[in-house]
Amino acid sequence: MKRILACDDSSFIQKMVKRELESSFEVEIFSDGFEAYEHLKNDPNFDFAIIDGEMPNLNGWELIKKIKTELNLVDLPVVMLTASDDDYFKNKAYDIGAFDYLKKPFKQGELYEYVQMFFKTEGFSHGVVLVVEDSKLQNKTICHQLKEKGILPISAYSGEEAVKILLEGKQIDAILLDINLPGASGFDVAKGLKNDERFKSIPIIGLTAAVGKEAIETMKKAFESGVDDFLTKPYNMVEFYARLNVNIERGKLTRRLKEESERDYLTKLYNRRYAFTFLQQLINLSKRNNQPLSFVILDIDKFKKINDTYGHNVGDEALKHIANLIQSTIRKSDIAGRWGGEEFCIILPETQLNEACMVAEKVRKAITTTPLEIGATTITINISAGVSTLKENEDANSLIKRADDALYEAKEKGRNRSFKFDEAASPCK
Ligand code: GH3
Ligand code: MG
Ligand code: MG
Ligand code: MG
Repeated sequence: MKRILACDDSSFIQKMVKRELESSFEVEIFSDGFEAYEHLKNDPNFDFAIIDGEMPNLNGWELIKKIKTELNLVDLPVVMLTASDDDYFKNKAYDIGAFDYLKKPFKQGELYEYVQMFFKTEGFSHGVVLVVEDSKLQNKTICHQLKEKGILPISAYSGEEAVKILLEGKQIDAILLDINLPGASGFDVAKGLKNDERFKSIPIIGLTAAVGKEAIETMKKAFESGVDDFLTKPYNMVEFYARLNVNIERGKLTRRLKEESERDYLTKLYNRRYAFTFLQQLINLSKRNNQPLSFVILDIDKFKKINDTYGHNVGDEALKHIANLIQSTIRKSDIAGRWGGEEFCIILPETQLNEACMVAEKVRKAITTTPLEIGATTITINISAGVSTLKENEDANSLIKRADDALYEAKEKGRNRSFKFDEAASPCK
């Protein structure tokens, strides 16, 4: 049975709490903060705490502070009870580590429903949520709330750290983003993510502790920056979970659709349309940052013969085999795509022509030395490659055309080799 600590100096509220919760939970009632504090020192294993704000001796604010700092019970979910509905107190409660704020008295059944809801785990979307919140205490409190519902939280304490986590390639279903952050603000982070092909479809829920007119202004600006949803701290728990659920579901669905629309079904590499869009975006970025960018196009040699000799199914296996070899040979920051039937591309950000040639050669050698084995049959496959590097004032089509011209030369000069195209085509050495 879950253990609940309740602390309130009013005997009326004490009775009410008992009546509501006693049949389903183990409830311990205290009538002042000091008594509860002393008890918690020796017996801290509670699952939930309900604490009144105004009490003699040690009041609720001080008790919660002590619970969170002196007793270090950061994971104990604490709800503050109060007679006032003032935003100022709500925020103060949140700041000291309470995760919600309940107005008393309650209607019959209300407190029971609330606590039941807190412990309920069915019906929640199990996803991964990135929590971007600089306050360590609030970050922990949110993560705890997520774990309660079977959601996996990942903590970031700044926008920069959040971006780093996303770049590592973790699958994230939704982002809780505090607007007020050190360094890049939540507005900046939202704008950056929504302008990035890789991350734009992850739902972002903005969070602010601002009140009144400032809260409205913040919300307006957050939506303009690209957030998908918004919550004002301290948020009501039911609303928090409801919004989170909707966004996680939407995040998962869009991720699946995104993957289906961006990936080639057979090889799981990016498809041509996506690779082209990505290339255009990276060209803009490399121009802005004055960084090189290279493009490689690869074409299987005499692939028709493989199909004709072994059949189309083996041909398909060969395409998957080549895709895997390309993917495992290049760096994480390089982007591989299936350009067409038996053609592949690699986009290489921050890479000069000669380095790109080395990558093309590395891939070519990996392919020629790793034959495809199907049953007792061993099939050696070769590819030819063409390489180009972005010139000033050049666009995607021209960059691709030069790589294609180099590829043509590689085929002309005997296949199973790489050519680069600077002013004219020449072999990669
Ligand atoms: P080259 O060295 O000049 O590139 O010769 P090639 O035979 O590779 O070139 P060609 O363009 O004449 O033939 C490409 C072949 O690729 C023809 C087509 O049947 C095959 N192909 C394209 N897409 C697929 C696919 O999805 N699966 C299979 N099995 N074969 C494919
Ligand atoms: Mg903050
Ligand atoms: Mg071809
Ligand atoms: Mg070919």
